[in-house]
Order: sequence, then structure tokens, then C-alpha cells
Amino acid sequence: MKIENIRKCPYCGYMYRVVPGQNAYSNMFSAPKGSVGIHSSVFVCPHIACGKTEVTVEAGFTPASNAGKAAERQKVSHDLANSFFSARLLPLEACGKQEFKTAEVPETVFHDYDQACRLLKASPCASATYARRCLQGMVRKKFKLKPGKFQNEIKTLASMNGTIRQEVVDALESVRKIGKFRAMPEDDVKVLVGVNYDEARQTIEVIEALLFDWFLAPAEREKRAGALKAIIEGKKG
Ligand SMILES: [Zn+2]
Repeated sequence: MKIENIRKCPYCGYMYRVVPGQNAYSNMFSAPKGSVGIHSSVFVCPHIACGKTEVTVEAGFTPASNAGKAAERQKVSHDLANSFFSARLLPLEACGKQEFKTAEVPETVFHDYDQACRLLKASPCASATYARRCLQGMVRKKFKLKPGKFQNEIKTLASMNGTIRQEVVDALESVRKIGKFRAMPEDDVKVLVGVNYDEARQTIEVIEALLFDWFLAPAEREKRAGALKAIIEGKKG
């Protein structure tokens, strides 16, 4: 990625001039005869009230002629051609949407959702494991179900006539079928395996739709009903 002269701190939004060696530290690593390089950068926000660190990493192909030569590497260190991986390690990208961090959404539910979002790129399997736990938590909190197998919980929901729409049952079923649980030997932890990025992302989308439907929208309706009541009572008085 090309490092611009002016950078915006991802924590506080402060715009500052990048000064290598003062608030920006970059390095490029590549094997002497290799054609692949890793470019890592650390930025320290110069704003006195902030001072937080941003870390980025990028991997890409370097021209063969540049490989291993320190001087040449310096030259390409700010612009790695043909990059095939690029990520910000700090602060973590893809956090859960903050609109769901409200009193209506149980803390444990938001935590699992947030973890699922953060892990999406790095490990779809880990992300889906959290996402599934999040969904189960949502179902239990919303419908006050006794913890059991997800499969049985969905069946119970489907049998509660009028409580839940068929599309929601279908969405929950499709999430349940993603990946396979594998128990880790010697402990009780089960993780999902065989989940790809799109499946993990879809699961997060289902969570977001249901968080809105089950937790945010009812609270919003209640608020409006309260406002209506206040208007009418105001008129009476
Ligand atoms: Zn800052």
C-alpha cells in the first residue's frame, strides 16, 4: 500500500504528517532470492492526548531484481507492487457495528458478535464458531428457551406458531448446517471446521438482521408508543 504523506489516526481522527523515524517506522523483508516480500509499518499518533499505535502489514511480489538488496528494498518499501495480502493489525478491523452495542442487546451476545466480526478475515472457522454461539445466545435470551442442542431449539421455535416467521427458521437452519463441529481432544471445547469466508460472512449478516428484528426494533416501537401516549395525555391535560 502506498503510504501517503498525510495520515489520519484511526483512533482519534487526528491528521498528521508522516515523518519516517519520528512517527512512522517501516520495514520490508524478503528472502535474498525470493520474489515475495512483506512490508510492515508502525505509526504512532503524534497527538498528545492520543499517542496510540497503528500497525499495518502487506505481502506482495517484488521485482526479482529487487530481492535481497537492502537499498532497492528501501525504495519499494512504500509501494509494494502486486500485493496479495493487506491488513491492519492494530486497531483491529471489522469490529461489530456499534449500533448494536446498546442496553437492549445482551452484553454476551454483543461480545460474541463482535468477536465473529473481528475474526472473519483471519479465520472464518473461528468467526463462525463465535457467530453460532452468538445466535444460540440470541435465541435463548429472546425466547427464554432452555439451553439445548441448536437443532432442537430451532425445532421448538418453529413449533411456536406465529412467534417466528418461516424465513427466520430457514435462516437459522442454514446457519446450523454451516461447517462441522470438531471436539478438541482432552477438553470440552468444540470448534467449527470447514467454513469458508462467504459462509462466515453470511452468518454474521443473519445475526445483524435478527439483532435488529428481535432487540432494536421492539425497543424502538415501545419508545414510539410511549411518545404517542405522552402526546395524548398531554392533550387531555
Ligand atoms: Zn490518535
